[in-house]
Amino acid sequence: MNDTTQPIVRMQQLNKHFGSLHVLNNIDLDIVPGEVVVIIGASGSGKSTLIRCINGLEEFQSGNLVVDSSELLPYGKSTQALQKIRTEVGMVFQQFNLFPHLSVLDNVTLAPMKVRGLSRDDAISSGKRLLDRVGIADQADKYPSHLSGGQQQRVALARALAMEPRLMLFDEPTSALDPEMIGEVLDAMRELAKEGMTMVIVTHEMGFAREVADRVIFIHKGEIAEQGPPEKLFDTPQHERTQSFLARVL
Ligand code: ADP
Ligand code: MG
Repeated sequence: MNDTTQPIVRMQQLNKHFGSLHVLNNIDLDIVPGEVVVIIGASGSGKSTLIRCINGLEEFQSGNLVVDSSELLPYGKSTQALQKIRTEVGMVFQQFNLFPHLSVLDNVTLAPMKVRGLSRDDAISSGKRLLDRVGIADQADKYPSHLSGGQQQRVALARALAMEPRLMLFDEPTSALDPEMIGEVLDAMRELAKEGMTMVIVTHEMGFAREVADRVIFIHKGEIAEQGPPEKLFDTPQHERTQSFLARVL
């Protein structure tokens, strides 16, 4: 394998339980640099848990997981790897999780200064550039509560990008937004995909998935039921479960 095909995420036979609930069942998942993977599936199927395992927000009980050359061990026994992974994997949540008491610009500059050791000047100039890139440079001095949901989510995206992540995870980034604001967030994500960012996206936006995904994964009850290129998965799903899920959402 050369560098471009070396996976940035390698998950093998991963199992995750919440008490007696077997939430992820023998998941195998390799993601290569530059790949855009969209995860779809019914509510409660394990999508959030799966991507939260990738940046160590959830522990798992068995299996192998290597993220950007750092190994995550079962039961969270990997403190150093966790720190590294958290600085190299960005995440955008359904609820934007901005710091309410900080201005937009301060939201974006805080982690690069604290964690990456950037000077204040450098953090500010790169923060402004990122806000410009997601189309909200004019909001830099406002507080999150004074922004629309779509703007807040774009701040969250800029904040994650400020850490120069190698991989971005998105958990239903548009599900909490009013319909008229979904497009502006998807546009920013589409740009990021075009620039070659490696992305794992949980979403119900099937049109977007079809357009940006290199691969769509359908999760059913904690198992990968089917996966493939979007045209194939959406147009000719092989499994009955994929067919009935798509019949409900398309
Ligand atoms: P999805 O994101 O596909 O809707 P989740 O990964 O959030 O699904 O949840 C998968 C299953 O795990 C669900 O049955 C959910 O109720 C359960 N679950 C999620 N988080 C927890 C938790 N912290 N404790 C117990 N059960 C949980
Ligand atoms: Mg979820």
